[in-house]
Amino acid sequence: MHVTFCGAAETVTGSCHLIEASGKRILVDCGMFQGERSLRQRNREPFPFEPSSIDCLVLSHAHLDHCGLVPKLVRDGFRGEILCTPPTAEIARVILADSAHIQVEDAAYRARKARRRGERAEPPIYDMGDVLDAVSLFGRQPGYAEVTRIAGEVDLVLHDAGHILGSSIVELRAEGKTLVFSGDLGNLHQPIVQDPSSPPAADAVLIESTYGDRRHKTIEDSVGELREAIQTVIGRGGNLLIPSFALERTQEVLYEIFLMWRKRELPACAIYLDSPLAIATTRIFARYPDWFDAEGQALFATDPNPFSFPPLRFSQTTDESKRINAKSGGAVIIAGSGMCSGGRIIHHLRHNLWNDRCGIVFVGYQAAGTLGRRIVDGADRVNVFGEEVSVRASVWTVNGFSSHADQPILVDWLRRAGAPKVFLVHGELSGLQGLASRVKQDLGLDARIARWKETVEI
Ligand code: ZN
Repeated sequence: MHVTFCGAAETVTGSCHLIEASGKRILVDCGMFQGERSLRQRNREPFPFEPSSIDCLVLSHAHLDHCGLVPKLVRDGFRGEILCTPPTAEIARVILADSAHIQVEDAAYRARKARRRGERAEPPIYDMGDVLDAVSLFGRQPGYAEVTRIAGEVDLVLHDAGHILGSSIVELRAEGKTLVFSGDLGNLHQPIVQDPSSPPAADAVLIESTYGDRRHKTIEDSVGELREAIQTVIGRGGNLLIPSFALERTQEVLYEIFLMWRKRELPACAIYLDSPLAIATTRIFARYPDWFDAEGQALFATDPNPFSFPPLRFSQTTDESKRINAKSGGAVIIAGSGMCSGGRIIHHLRHNLWNDRCGIVFVGYQAAGTLGRRIVDGADRVNVFGEEVSVRASVWTVNGFSSHADQPILVDWLRRAGAPKVFLVHGELSGLQGLASRVKQDLGLDARIARWKETVEI
């Protein structure tokens, strides 16, 4: 059995691993590279394998850095079956359609700029037609712990990774060996999803290392900070903005706000979910309560529930979104993008950031170079898409809403896997090295940092 690391090697995005076993070729994940320009450029390069030679593709979950290049894979010749859990299949459709839409719009914008300079711009990596072709290849959708024969003599078992709805740890059995991919492992006590499953006994494990060198704050502290922000800002008559990622984080924030509302800790206000993508993913969540943890299942069996309670309003159309601007106070506005790099949050920032009665709560990681990061770093004035705006609103950074395991959780998970061979993927250098040295110290294991395009024997 051989594994080639085709992505998420020495970086956190572009997850893609090629497994050759029993004369078959299986791909686990086909994610998009994100972040620095040099990384994004990889999305345009040919795959380091022939797409038509791949027998089947397994998706661990529906985040773009794990499924974002599937339409390109299909356009370039892949015709096999795509397997994943039912929620992953449903969410991936929405995420891929959104990605195609953004790419086509960006490409059109770049083409207009390039034409003025007499140059040619790069086309989108894929479009909606490619997404529809990819979606037609979604096949069997196993539940957790089911054994599925996927190609020749190769068996697949998915286990709950507890990261986002439907996310999986991927177990492959072939040639008498077991290979386990952690996928993205969730945090403990995250709202809605279960804690990550114990790993199956394996000959080799590939484990993510996103926070391989860190410990998270507790979720309780973060919920307390969010509550304080809402009470403070609504109490002084302002609006509170929450830039949020559409998938999982938004649903978790709604869940926590619902609990505040039920405990009568929420001041009188309107909660706007102002993002068509987040509304679409929230509706998918609502269809899969059986995949939630016990507390989540109990909460969603009631009416009202976290996705449907009196102060919550879904703002679907552009007109509905613009109408929120007329409110000078009393609104909690959840809108994308999570790092303020586009989307409807931009016009809410224009209307509220200058106002010292208002506030903004960051509930997710803000990458260097983004507008969100400049606000978090304390800029007095920021450029909001061509317009200078002074930052007078209060800023809260709430770090505990992580849907990734931290170092102690990763090490404990590896201890239970008991695999003799460990490869570290999906991390920046600090996370990879931090986890490697902790694993050596605590478990006496030599975990190897996977290199891009390297092939190893299991
Ligand atoms: Zn993920």
